Amino acid sequence: MYRALEPSVLLLAGHLVTDEQSALRKALLYIFARYIEIPMLRFAYSGMRGRLRFLSDNTLARFLLKRLVLQPIGLRGDTAHPLPTADVLKLIDDQTSAIAVGPCRCRVAHGQCRHRLETDMVIRTGVEAFTKAWPHDYRELARDEAKRLIEVCADEGLWHMVFLHLPTAAGANEYVICNCCTDGCVPFMLNKVFGQDGFPLVRGEHVAHTLADRCRGCGDCLAVCPWEARTLVDGVVAVDSDKCFGCGLCARVCRNGGVSLVRERPRPPLRTYLEQKSAS
Ligand code: SF4
Ligand code: SF4
Repeated sequence: MYRALEPSVLLLAGHLVTDEQSALRKALLYIFARYIEIPMLRFAYSGMRGRLRFLSDNTLARFLLKRLVLQPIGLRGDTAHPLPTADVLKLIDDQTSAIAVGPCRCRVAHGQCRHRLETDMVIRTGVEAFTKAWPHDYRELARDEAKRLIEVCADEGLWHMVFLHLPTAAGANEYVICNCCTDGCVPFMLNKVFGQDGFPLVRGEHVAHTLADRCRGCGDCLAVCPWEARTLVDGVVAVDSDKCFGCGLCARVCRNGGVSLVRERPRPPLRTYLEQKSAS
C-alpha cells in the first residue's frame, strides 16, 4: 500500500514547492534520474511494443493506465514540449547553467533504436541531478559544442523536445533537451498510443503552415512528420493544426521553403497550459 502511494506523495510534495532550485525539487529530480526514469521507460516500452503489450491492447487495462498512471504523470510529473531547432539554439544561448550530455534515457531503457545515443542534453537543475546520478555517463559540453550537436541531430531527422519536471502553474523546470525519433522516444509513443488525453505532451508554440505558392507537392514533409499532421490534397499539403506539435521537422526538410512556422500558442507551461489540460 505504501509503495503504491509513494509516487503520488512525491508528486504532491514537489508541487507544494514551486522554486525549481529548492532542495526538495532538486532531490526529487535526482531520485527520478537515478531510480525511477529508466525502469519506468522500460516498463512503458514493454507495455506498448514488448512482452507486456497486452496492457495497451486490453480495453480495461488501457483505461486504468490512462486514468491512474499516465495522465497524472503527463499533467503533473514529467512531460515534454517540442521546439524547432532555432528555438533550441536560442535556449542554449540563454542558458546560465552548465550543459552536459549523456545517453538518451529511452534508447538506453529499451535498446531498440538505432539512432545516435548521446543526445540527452541536461540543463539547469538537470545537470546536477544527472551528473550526480550517472557520473560516468554524462560529460560537460561547451555551448558551441552543444549547438553543433543540436544541428547534427536535426540533420539526422531527430526533433527536439524540452522536458519539464513537476510542471506547476507557477513555474517550469526545463531540465533536459532530448533529440527524439518515432522508434526511440517513449513519451512520444505513449502520446501516440494513448492519445493526448491519455499521456499529454505540451503542444509546441508553433504551427507549421504550408505556403501554397511554394509547395511542389513532393511529400518529403509528410514522411517526417511524427504526428501525421500533414496530408497532400490536390498536390498541396494541408495541415491539421490540432495535430501539429510544432517540432519544425517539416520546415527543415522542405527544400522549397514551403513551410512557415508560425508562433500561435503560448510558451508552456504557463497557467493556461494546466487550465487547458484540466478542462480536457
Ligand atoms: S516538403 Fe515542401 S514542397 Fe514538399 S510537399 Fe512538403 S511543403 Fe510541399
Ligand atoms: S506539421 Fe508535423 S513535422 Fe511539421 S511542425 Fe507540425 S508536427 Fe512537426
